Amino acid sequence: MTTNNGENKRAKWPAWLPLRDDLQDQVPYGAPQLNVSTRLNTNENPFGPNKTLVKDLESAISEIGARLNRYPDRDAIELRRTLAQYLNQLSDTRFSEANIWAANGSNEVIQSIFLAFGGSGRSAVGFEPSYSMHHNIARVTGTSWIRVDRVGDFVIDIESAHRTIAAEKPSLIFLTTPNNPTGTITAINDIRTLGRICAEVNALLVVDEAYQEFSPEPSAITLIDELPNIIVCRTMSKAFAFAGARVGYLVANPAVIEAMLLVRLPYHLSSATQALALVALAYSRELLANVAHLSRERVRIRKELERLGVETLTSGANFFLFHAVDPKSLWQALLAEDVLVRDVALPHYLRATVGSPQENDRFIAALSKALGISATG
Ligand SMILES: *Cc1c(COP(=O)(O)O)cnc(C)c1O
Repeated sequence: MTTNNGENKRAKWPAWLPLRDDLQDQVPYGAPQLNVSTRLNTNENPFGPNKTLVKDLESAISEIGARLNRYPDRDAIELRRTLAQYLNQLSDTRFSEANIWAANGSNEVIQSIFLAFGGSGRSAVGFEPSYSMHHNIARVTGTSWIRVDRVGDFVIDIESAHRTIAAEKPSLIFLTTPNNPTGTITAINDIRTLGRICAEVNALLVVDEAYQEFSPEPSAITLIDELPNIIVCRTMSKAFAFAGARVGYLVANPAVIEAMLLVRLPYHLSSATQALALVALAYSRELLANVAHLSRERVRIRKELERLGVETLTSGANFFLFHAVDPKSLWQALLAEDVLVRDVALPHYLRATVGSPQENDRFIAALSKALGISATG
C-alpha cells in the first residue's frame, strides 16, 4: 500500500490526466469477490428467480427486443405506478407514481439526491458506521460530509444528532435502517423526531431502507404525509433478489420527484430494466415469502452461533454482525474453509449475509472449525 503523501499521488496517475485533486487518492468502492463455494459477503439474496418467473422474464425480453430501436418511457410511469401499488399494499399508504422515482439501483437514486440537494457549499450528515456509498457520493458531488458516531450497539443518539444538525445546517441527513453493516433498526418514533429536527433547518432526511422488507419495524414511508422533508430510498436488489437488474427507487413528496427530473439523464432507465422490474413486481408475494424464510434463517443462525459461544448483534436485515476477537485472522480462517464473509473494518466484528439453508450450515460448520483451530493453535 502507498501512503497518501503528495509524491505517491503524483506517481499513481499519468501526468497528462487532469483528474480532480480531491479524487486522486481515492480507491473504487467494492468488496473483493473471490471464487469460493459459500459467498456471504455482499448481502445478495441467495434465492434466484423460480422457473415461471424466468419464463415471464424471457417473454418480456423478447417483446421489448422487437422495439429496441425506440427509446424507453422516459418517465417510467408504469413502473413507478406499480411500485406505488406494491408499497401501498405493504404499508397501507396511498402513494401514486407522483410520489415515486426509479433509477438504476438505489445508488443512482442517492446520487440524484446529492446532485439536486447537495454540491459545493453544502453539507450532509451521516450516522456511522453505515453504508459508505453515502459518504463516497457526497465526495464525488463536492458535498462536505459530517460524521455523527453511533453509540453503544450502533444506535443513534438523537440529542447529539440534534446538536450537530442545528449547528451545521446541512441540506441532507442520511439514516440507514436497518443499518448496513450493523443490522441496527431505528424505531419509527426516532425517525419522526429526526424528521422534525431536520425540518427546523430545512434539511431533507433521507432514510435508506435497502433492507426494509426484512425488518419488523414500520417503514418511514408512513411519515411522508406528515413530514414532506422525508425521502425514503428502497431497492429491488435485496428483498426482490433482483440485484443484477439494477432497480432502485425513492418515495417522497411530489416536489422531490420534480427535482429528480431536473438532474436525471434522459432515458436513464432502459426498456429492459423497466420491463423486467414489472415482471418481478408481479411476483412480489412469492418473493416476500423468500424474505420471510431468510428472516427465519437469521434467527436460526443466531441460535446456532450462541451455542458456539459467538455473540451476534440483533439485526433487522438479511445479514448480521458476529463477534470476532481478531476479525482479520477469523476472516482468513473462514476463507480457508471456502466461506467468504465481509471484514467491515469494525474492531471486533465480521459481517455475514444470510444465505440459503445449505450455505448457512456451511458457514456455521466453518466457523465452528475456525474457532476450534484458533483455540488449539
Ligand atoms: C445494497 C445497498 C444499497 C444499494 O442498492 P442497489 O439498489 O443495488 O444500488 C443501498 N443502500 C444500502 C444501505 C445497501 O446496503
